[in-house]
Amino acid sequence: MRSLVWFRADLRCADHTALHAASRVSTRGVVALFTICPDQWREHDWSDVRVDLLRRTLIDTSRSLWKRRIPLLIETVDRFADVPARLLEVMRRHECEALYMNAEYEINERRRDDAATTTVRGAGFAVHTCTDQVVLAPGAVQTGKGDFYSVFTPFRKSWIARVESGGVPAPLPAPKKQDDPGIAPDEVPERIAGFEADPPAAAHWPAGEREASKRLDRFIEHAIADYKDRRDRPAVDGTSTLSPYLAIGAISPRRCLHAAWRANGESLSGDGGAATWISELVWREFYRHVLVGFPRVCMHRAFRPETEAVGWREADEDFEAWCAGRTGFPIVDAAMRQLHETGWMHNRLRMIVSMFLTKDLLIDWRRGERHFMRHLVDGDLASNNGGWQWSASTGTDAAPYFRIFNPFSQSRRFDPDGAFIRRYVPELASLDAKAIHDPSALAPPERSTLDYPAPIVDHAKGRARAIKAFERIRTA
Ligand SMILES: Cc1cc2nc3c(=O)[nH]c(=O)nc-3n(C[C@H](O)[C@H](O)[C@H](O)COP(=O)(O)OP(=O)(O)OC[C@H]3O[C@@H](n4cnc5c(N)ncnc54)[C@H](O)[C@@H]3O)c2cc1C
Repeated sequence: MRSLVWFRADLRCADHTALHAASRVSTRGVVALFTICPDQWREHDWSDVRVDLLRRTLIDTSRSLWKRRIPLLIETVDRFADVPARLLEVMRRHECEALYMNAEYEINERRRDDAATTTVRGAGFAVHTCTDQVVLAPGAVQTGKGDFYSVFTPFRKSWIARVESGGVPAPLPAPKKQDDPGIAPDEVPERIAGFEADPPAAAHWPAGEREASKRLDRFIEHAIADYKDRRDRPAVDGTSTLSPYLAIGAISPRRCLHAAWRANGESLSGDGGAATWISELVWREFYRHVLVGFPRVCMHRAFRPETEAVGWREADEDFEAWCAGRTGFPIVDAAMRQLHETGWMHNRLRMIVSMFLTKDLLIDWRRGERHFMRHLVDGDLASNNGGWQWSASTGTDAAPYFRIFNPFSQSRRFDPDGAFIRRYVPELASLDAKAIHDPSALAPPERSTLDYPAPIVDHAKGRARAIKAFERIRTA
């Protein structure tokens, strides 16, 4: 029996559930397939830098599979709707009798996979869908009433109890070398239609499974112990920067969890650095669970339906200033410039800029969510949507609408000497650690020498306006 393993957001050989399962039972070997869907990816707002990382990772995955004599075939179809027929064609062409894939949880991906399953089964072949993108499949832990959790803390408790009761899963090995199937791997295209090849931010993200492993090992060895104290400091390398690799599956969440569990004395609980990092991995699981339990969040709708009535402002000029990193709030501008230069933004800054957009500027979270997706190298519908709806007070577990960050205080607290601002807003580099957080407070002669805008909003007034907008829907 020969199997087709359909690769998607799981571009690696080690600890790949579907590949491992297929390799064990396929007596005539395994063939791998990746489908490139440029139109659909554009519709999903995938960024140039994310697609570029994916393309370079495909080259790495293809080499690594071929060392095991597993050929990676590449098919390009514009949209997900075209995938099922093409899959079946590939299966027939290469005499595959079973299809293996790892489950994905976004609504369009689920519809695509359902259609593929129906088509392939309809032709008399077997289909096996494995859990891989998460440690526990969405819905595996539920509330006492049998519902999906909508609050993180009880979800986390149940999740940890469940994982501990079954034992923290050890990563699966990569498959062994198989006999040459007589099928050559396809060339990975040099560019993907509609996406920029080699965008400048790509230089920050070396591709491949080995790079992802190296980042994990380095983080575990040097940074996890201090993660709790350093993770909120954007000027410091205190976090793992694994999110781009998790987003395309160059590393598995099980591998990350297992390494952190060991670093935490073989426990998932506690309040040190490793336990705090484990909680972040659980946030990632939580938002996938929310995607499945409450699929409206995949369709640009608020988790809390009543917040659809918030009177968001159009304010195109303010939105453009936010996108361009020209709001006059140095920490916000530094963060937005980090996003554009590197394709990544520190978590604390994602919270600051998303709250600034949705509260200080009262601009619809969906515009910010989309801008992030179009620029992030780690763009991930579940976590991005979860983060935006948290900041906008429209989501699960959301920040209460009246608790609004003051961007200047956040800046003083998390970038106390202004090192991060200096790196990304060079026009403020000469200011001292006090003035750099709010140059608008400088005396007029000094202020006028800076090529830097005045704040586009008065924080106190913006805050009051947002609270009023939320109170209006409460009383309505
Ligand atoms: C508005 C907003 C938008 C976001 N958009 C994305 C996104 O598109 N893609 C994405 O991967 N993360 C997103 N996040 C979550 C978080 O900011 C990033 O995962 C984190 O900054 C990645 O850096 P790291 O890998 O160094 O994280 P670490 O601190 O090292 O954490 C390890 C891993 O845990 C997961 N994780 C950490 N924090 C969170 C979180 N709050 N929610 C969900 N998972 C988390 C990530 O997979 C991360 O790689 C968003 C957060 C906010 C507030």
